Amino acid sequence: MAKDKLSLAAWIEESERKGISLRETLIANNANAMGVEPQVLLSKMADMLKVMRASIDYGLTGVRSRSKLTGGSAKKLFEAKQGNNYANILGPTVSDAVIFSLAVAEANAAMGRIVAAPTAGASGVLPGMLFSLQKNYALSEEDLAAGLVVAGGIGLVIANRSSLSGAMGGCQAETGSAAAMAAGAAVDLLGGTPEQVGQAVAMTIKNMLGLVCDPVAGLVEVPCIKRNAGAVTQALTAAQMALAGITSFIPADEAIDAMKEVGDRMPCALKETAGGGLAHAPTALAWAAEYFKAGE
Ligand code: SF4
Repeated sequence: MAKDKLSLAAWIEESERKGISLRETLIANNANAMGVEPQVLLSKMADMLKVMRASIDYGLTGVRSRSKLTGGSAKKLFEAKQGNNYANILGPTVSDAVIFSLAVAEANAAMGRIVAAPTAGASGVLPGMLFSLQKNYALSEEDLAAGLVVAGGIGLVIANRSSLSGAMGGCQAETGSAAAMAAGAAVDLLGGTPEQVGQAVAMTIKNMLGLVCDPVAGLVEVPCIKRNAGAVTQALTAAQMALAGITSFIPADEAIDAMKEVGDRMPCALKETAGGGLAHAPTALAWAAEYFKAGE
């Protein structure tokens, strides 16, 4: 491992040595690096939360994308959940996370304002996790702001050691990274130890490894929107396992390094070029041909 790379293990070790949570370490370190009081940092996070919440609200109105390819899924799932005979097989926390993730991803596809955390294509995962946990576990705004700092720290390590870009590393780098950020934040917010945060990150990355970037017609719609929903469920699964004390054989930093290797070896056709995968399915090619013809 190169010495100059950021390391989640280093922050976990620092937290354990000081006997504090990962969020306390990251808030202190980030505020220090920015030359501001921790409260200023948290207030910036609170501003981001406001944008995230507004994007959920916008998505839940049933917005459709300009291309008309996608939209309305979040509203549909939200309304189905209210029905008496609807089998809510996911339970309240997971279904809320899925609904909110879809809502933000659909808001993004409809050119609404979102927080790119870490990217626009993967912008639904983190708000899906945070606002579902707030709703179902009565977390405060301060908690969520701290959760964003934890998620940001994890994202920073991934950006430093691997990539957050689908064009560089495939969708594992976008929705996979978002899921890892969300899983780590969830564990911290629900009282997990710094070490458990690392386990959740490692397990999430492992489960998202190899995911290709293959958007239909090059638009961030299909499969992107539903991948946000899938990614948040992966994050919840990993967080749940970590909180139970389950550990990953491969540590988080090494899983992130593996993600880089997989991304580097992934063919260009599967890295946001719409040159393969789902983008080359007959249905996708036929739709894209019509779409681009109409735009001429
Ligand atoms: S498929 Fe590509 S464009 Fe879509 S969310 Fe994944 S990385 Fe982003």
